[in-house]
Amino acid sequence: VNDTKTALVTGANKGIGFAIAQGLGAIGFTVAVGARDDARREAAVERLRAAGVDAFGVALDVTSDVSVAAAAATIERTAERLDVLVNNAGISGRTDGDAQDPTTLDLDVVRTVLETNVFGVVRVTNAMLPLLSRAGSPRIVNMSSNMGSLTLRTGPVMAAYAPSKSMLNSVTAQYARRLADSKVIVNAACPGYVATDFTGFNAPRTPEQGAAIAIRLATLPDDGPRGGFFDDEGTVPW
Ligand code: NDP
Repeated sequence: VNDTKTALVTGANKGIGFAIAQGLGAIGFTVAVGARDDARREAAVERLRAAGVDAFGVALDVTSDVSVAAAAATIERTAERLDVLVNNAGISGRTDGDAQDPTTLDLDVVRTVLETNVFGVVRVTNAMLPLLSRAGSPRIVNMSSNMGSLTLRTGPVMAAYAPSKSMLNSVTAQYARRLADSKVIVNAACPGYVATDFTGFNAPRTPEQGAAIAIRLATLPDDGPRGGFFDDEGTVPW
């Protein structure tokens, strides 16, 4: 019997995902480092191991059915079950010129962003649910953004990225309703404004700070909240 809990973090080779992997590793999880690029994935696994984390790499492109199915098979072979899934991989989509001005919106940018930020989450979640259902206290965390909040209307106008996170929030709520009578607890997280490649490293929060809410939601007790949207301060309005 394997008592060690296993967590899959998508897009774990850098940024907030790497910090989530490191943070979950530091509290005893075996971490499956989901990343699409072989060299970047192996470098991240090495860095995590050097930091004392029990990590293994999982080739994972969230936009590919084949890749996601293979990733589930790898995790089943290596860990038998999955305790935590953090759907962290995300893209902003092209932001040059007026690519995300709604009045001139390039629909190919929208399709690309939805494919990763929304369909990727559904694809990975559905592939991993059979493994999650073998765990005692399975948790799913979807990395969203307060830019997806229809109430806050924060951040610049980004007509592909912001709606992708609104839809991710809606999808999160759908999963939580569907899984309400199961052990699986699903929530969405906002990391705040974090210095990563994503923001050109022009943001006040560190990846570790951005990772904290995801780690908290990944380790909720069995009576923890379901189907919510949270940041470090508490509930984020939808
Ligand atoms: P980064 O750009 O630093 O990292 C994004 C990660 O996602 C990378 O590992 C990247 O891999 C991976 N990724 C992208 N597309 C795919 C794919 N198709 N398959 C697998 N992995 C993929 O961004 P952050 O760490 O800043 O962002 C992480 C999450 O947090 C995102 O969902 C983002 O929307 C969200 N967020 C970030 C905020 C911020 O201020 N930084 C604010 C609010 C939300 P690769 O290296 O191969 O490109």
